[in-house]
Amino acid sequence: MVEHIQVANSIYENALVWDAHAGFELTHERDLETLSVWRDAGVSYLSVNVGYDVRDWRVTVKNLALARRWIDAQSDFDLVGTVADLDRARAAGHMAITFDIEGMCALDGSIDMVQLYHDLGVRQMVFAYNLNNAAGGGCHDKDIGLTDFGRDVIREMNEVGMFVDCSHAGYRTTMEAMEISQVPVIFSHSNPRALHDHERNIWDDQALACAASGGVVGINGIGVFLGDDDISSANMSRHIMYYVQLIGADHVGIGIDYEINADSGSDDGVTGLDIALSENPDFWPPEQYPGGAIKCAAPSQLREIASNLLAEGLSKAEVVGILGGNFRRVAKLVWG
Ligand SMILES: [Zn+2]
Repeated sequence: MVEHIQVANSIYENALVWDAHAGFELTHERDLETLSVWRDAGVSYLSVNVGYDVRDWRVTVKNLALARRWIDAQSDFDLVGTVADLDRARAAGHMAITFDIEGMCALDGSIDMVQLYHDLGVRQMVFAYNLNNAAGGGCHDKDIGLTDFGRDVIREMNEVGMFVDCSHAGYRTTMEAMEISQVPVIFSHSNPRALHDHERNIWDDQALACAASGGVVGINGIGVFLGDDDISSANMSRHIMYYVQLIGADHVGIGIDYEINADSGSDDGVTGLDIALSENPDFWPPEQYPGGAIKCAAPSQLREIASNLLAEGLSKAEVVGILGGNFRRVAKLVWG
């Protein structure tokens, strides 16, 4: 075991560490200052969420303005647009950032917005945040499938070079999206429903279709989705290993969904998500989200997770892929 920890530490130090989604709701510069938590944990790249269907689309545009200005003023965070940019940021010892949007209400019905968001640094977009919208179905709503608008958006995302992200969407929408997309599709932060039956988790055939497209599923660190509110590295590793066995190590990644409560500054794994939940019960049905604090695993656990995966018998190359190499491979194909 000690040997695994030493090897894991050396792998972790040298690996590209990719976190496919941060969970904090961007409202203030204070939220961006929490990015130091990822940097200090050795994360090389993070996708920062700038908006979701719960808020008006204009909030997303303002958040992009705030985040772009803040990152521009930092010496150790770089906004990147391509994998070559990302590699340059990493070589300089900087953490690379792109943005993501959770839900296509942010397009306000206009396909042209896809290119605009891409120009502003968005590299991944979810169809629908839990509830149905003009693009498709959400995971906590009637299973409606993609709309014509949603199909057009996929074509445009493929064209401009943005990840088609199936997390948060309903079953039919994800299966249709994976059939239509001309490039690999991802689930940036979704866990196996076979291990914990929650509507935000995904069925095996969804994960298999993602892998068949050449894509990656990122394992989420939120206790409600991991099951039993257990955010331990052991439980996250269990979810990772489930997908390693089902879809192969080349198609598994990390999308922790972590946030630190910037107001309280607490780092006890308790997020501020319960406040948003209680204010918007439509987006988070109470029967799926029992009341109380929502816990999330932290980026600082990734080192221990790498060690667990080695102990499970994965090769160094497989662990390096899960830590970030797999998402990087797909980004090279999709973003350029
Ligand atoms: Zn999410």
